Amino acid sequence: MSIKNPYLQKVYQQVCQRDANEPEFLNAVMEVLSTLEPVIEKHPEYEAAGLIERLVEPERAVQFRVAWQDDQGKTQVNRAFRVQFNSAIGPYKGGLRFHPSVNLSIIKFLAFEQTFKNSLTGLPMGGGKGGSDFDPKGKSDAEIMRFCQSFMTELSRYIGAETDVPAGDIGVGGREIGYLFGQYKRLQNRFSGILTGKGLSYGGSLVRTQATGYGLLYFVQEMLSVMANDSVKDKVTVISGSGNVAIYAAEKAQELGAKVVALSDSNGYIYDKNGIDLNVVKQIKEVRRGRIREYMDAVPSAEYHEGCRGIWSIPCEIALPCATQNELLLEDAEKLIANGVKLVAEGANMPCALDAVAAFQNSGVLYAPGKAANAGGVATSGLEMCQNAMKYSWSKEEVDQKLHQIMVGIFHDAYNAAKEYNMENEQHQANLLAGANIAGFAKVADAMMAQGIL
Ligand code: NDP
Repeated sequence: MSIKNPYLQKVYQQVCQRDANEPEFLNAVMEVLSTLEPVIEKHPEYEAAGLIERLVEPERAVQFRVAWQDDQGKTQVNRAFRVQFNSAIGPYKGGLRFHPSVNLSIIKFLAFEQTFKNSLTGLPMGGGKGGSDFDPKGKSDAEIMRFCQSFMTELSRYIGAETDVPAGDIGVGGREIGYLFGQYKRLQNRFSGILTGKGLSYGGSLVRTQATGYGLLYFVQEMLSVMANDSVKDKVTVISGSGNVAIYAAEKAQELGAKVVALSDSNGYIYDKNGIDLNVVKQIKEVRRGRIREYMDAVPSAEYHEGCRGIWSIPCEIALPCATQNELLLEDAEKLIANGVKLVAEGANMPCALDAVAAFQNSGVLYAPGKAANAGGVATSGLEMCQNAMKYSWSKEEVDQKLHQIMVGIFHDAYNAAKEYNMENEQHQANLLAGANIAGFAKVADAMMAQGIL
């Protein structure tokens, strides 16, 4: 990937100088700017308004201390962030991540990408993201609660139903959202929709838990139908991760007739050539919070391998990276291509390295970027916000149908934008990465131009 347009090149150089120690953020900026060239050439007014300089700088980035006591009474201190990247089209919206790898670069890249993803959903949501280097693994429920309460005590100053509405991400699921919501309510003495991914008994939406994984498969199904006159049915499918996104991607893939043969966690992966038994995985991951290798206790005929990246050496037709950023590198892409993969769609955010993406695109593998393919989670969060504002709940079927419609719409917006700007590979396949960036950018750019220099 490279940038040829002089204006975009100048902006990218400025970001490189200013944020030199933020590799994930620089990657995300390169990925977006390299696809916006034809739009910038069509709209010279953007340069005059300094639009791209403003687009790559967060409106606000807060860093704060989270002090809490562990079960031994010892004081622990973590570092936390909330990056409010862009509010041109609505209140900031994006998840919270609790993982030891969390730093400003990762949260900034996620918040930047979120801006375009949220725009693609067609709902009025700006881009934000937050989190902490806190590691929930091995912590007791009481420790998780004390951490969440301390975290929210500070975060509550910066969020609000009309300002910024966080949600879950890696390490932040229903349990954490419950503790965070409870603490906000206690501090503000107000029951309001300041978080999404809430439990059903206190304002959550049906299908939110399943939404990212289900939405990924709705996108993939439409993509296969339009771009290859094919479907998910009978396709051997490999899915990395075994968290929220991976489990519900696997569930919907199986429902649509695919054969899901592998899942992983950060220690290793399981390969079950007969097809993964998802009930076993849910017991391990959702009930016991255990490790994926425990699958072998229930299904001894399966295989377990240490090391998560080995999962990409399993021959498959569909590969869905659903764990974390940069989990699929060029050498993994080359293995998948050599083994005949037909489609790669990102359930995680930026799981494929930029050169791995280029390898897929150049070899005719259908590739869907996360900001389009995994937008089902935030789209359903948007639907949760609508229901909270109306003080009303839709049925499971209503939410699922709206999610399906939104995912099909996102595919077509990305596909049509790629076609309109001739962003295609040698086989004339639409470049969905470019299409998603262009379609997501268009609405944000319009709103920023209308609102003046801010
Ligand atoms: P979870 O915490 O539920 O699950 C994450 C999974 O990825 C776990 O299986 C975890 O294994 C694995 N994992 C984490 N770090 C690594 C690593 N370095 N190498 C290999 N595996 C790893 O998170 P989610 O499923 O919610 O999120 C997964 C991805 O999807 C993230 O990129 C997130 O940003 C993205 N996403 C999530 C959305 C949502 O609605 N939840 C919406 C859109 C995107 P272990 O238990 O060993 O850590």
